Amino acid sequence: MSPPVFRFAPSPNGYLHLGHAYSALLNADRARETGGRLLLRIEDIDATRCRPEFEAAIFEDLAWLGIAWETPVRRQSEHPADYRAALEKLSALGLVYPSFESRAEITKLVAAREADSPWPRDPDGAPHYPGTASELPPAERERLIASGMPYALRLDMAAACRRVPALDWTEAGEGPDGERGQVIARPEAWGDVILARKETPTSYHLSVVVDDALQGVSEVVRGQDLFHATSVHRLLQVLLGLPAPAYRHHGLVRDEAGRKLSKSTRATGLRELRAGGAGPSDISRLVGLR
Ligand code: GLU
Repeated sequence: MSPPVFRFAPSPNGYLHLGHAYSALLNADRARETGGRLLLRIEDIDATRCRPEFEAAIFEDLAWLGIAWETPVRRQSEHPADYRAALEKLSALGLVYPSFESRAEITKLVAAREADSPWPRDPDGAPHYPGTASELPPAERERLIASGMPYALRLDMAAACRRVPALDWTEAGEGPDGERGQVIARPEAWGDVILARKETPTSYHLSVVVDDALQGVSEVVRGQDLFHATSVHRLLQVLLGLPAPAYRHHGLVRDEAGRKLSKSTRATGLRELRAGGAGPSDISRLVGLR
C-alpha cells in the first residue's frame, strides 16, 4: 500500500500565525505517525492579495518550526490548465453558468429579497446568490461576455445536487458541532458557489479539490473553519470523478477574547513571537501540542 499523503496548504496573503503553526504541526505529526508524506501547497490564486514575500516567509517560518516538506512545492497560480479542464468537465454536465452582477448589485438584490422574508445565508454567513443569471438565454450570456462585462462562473447547485443526491465523508477529527464519523454533506447550504471568475480561472473550492486529487492527498488535516466547505468539496469530487480523501478537522487556536486569529493580529504572528525570543518548542506549547 502506498503511504498516506498529507498537505499543508496556506495562502501567501499574510504572515503565518499560531493557528497556521498548529495546523502545520498536526499535519507533520500525522505524517510521522503514519509513515506518510507531507506536501506543502501554496494557494496563491488570488493575485490581488498574494505576494512573493509572504510565500518566502511561509517557507522560512515552517523550516524554523522544524517542519520538512517534499519538493517541488505546488503553486496553484502555475496550473490554470488543470482547473480549466475541471471547469470544462462541469460545464459539459450543464452545471455552470455565468452571473454578471457586481458585489454592490448583489447586496441590493439581497436587501430587496429580505424585505419580505429572510434570505438564506451560507455557513460562512454570506447570502446565497440572489440573481437570476442561471435563467439567461445562451445568446444573451454570450452577448454579455463578448461585451467585456466581468462575470463569475457559478455552480448550479440545485442541478448538481439532483445529480448527486446522497453524499457523505469520513470525519476523523471533529466539526464545530461535534460532528464525527460519517458526516452527511449538505452542499445546498452554500447556494450557487463561484467556481471561477473572468480574471481568475478558478476558485478556492475548485482548486483545492483538483489539487488534492492530483497530488494524491489521502487525509486532509485542516481547521474547523473549513469543515462546512467539505460539503462542496465532496460534491465537486463526485461530479469530477475524483477520489475522496479522509478529513480531519481540528479546533482553531483563538486569542484571549476567544476570536479566531487573523493574519493581521501581531501578538500571535510567528515572526513577532520569534522576534520576541520564542523558540519552536514554545510555539508547540502555545498551541497545546507536546
Ligand atoms: N488555503 C486555505 C487557507 O489558507 C486552506 C485550504 C485547505 O486546507 O483546504 O485557509
